[in-house]
Amino acid sequence: MEINMDNGLIVNILVESMSEDHVTIIKKLSKPKRDEELAAELNVKETIVRTLLNDLHARSLVEYERIKDKRTGWYTYLWKKRSDKIEEYISNYLHGKLDDLYRKLDEEKNGTFRCSCSRVSLEKAMDTNFICPECNEPYVNLDNSDEISKIETEIARINNFLKSI
Ligand SMILES: [Zn+2]
Repeated sequence: MEINMDNGLIVNILVESMSEDHVTIIKKLSKPKRDEELAAELNVKETIVRTLLNDLHARSLVEYERIKDKRTGWYTYLWKKRSDKIEEYISNYLHGKLDDLYRKLDEEKNGTFRCSCSRVSLEKAMDTNFICPECNEPYVNLDNSDEISKIETEIARINNFLKSI
């Protein structure tokens, strides 16, 4: 399947997980190209292009074919993007992000009371009569409902996106 590099969401996720420059390279690989071709098209040094290509290769997002130049006897590299792997990469990245968000959500939901040394759940605060056994301060109820709804919105957004790809 061909990954749609015109999809703003896909592009944003790739930029967020790598960088704008990496995404530029992927976009330029709509058809296979040699590193010197890419460097010329982007008007940057070949060493920069190679570094970016190596990064992408380490993530399995591009592959290359080594071609011997019959005239010079030197090898050149023809780079291709791997659409299937890009899709997999995005999916893995977002699942990792979801894990983090669920963990954060859990922390927020289980840490609605605060003293100067820690954050605890309502149950825990009740256990010690709303006084922290460590610092002896009273626990203060933390209004983190905004934070919780922000995390929940983000989780819903990612889940919807994952269903669409
Ligand atoms: Zn405390």
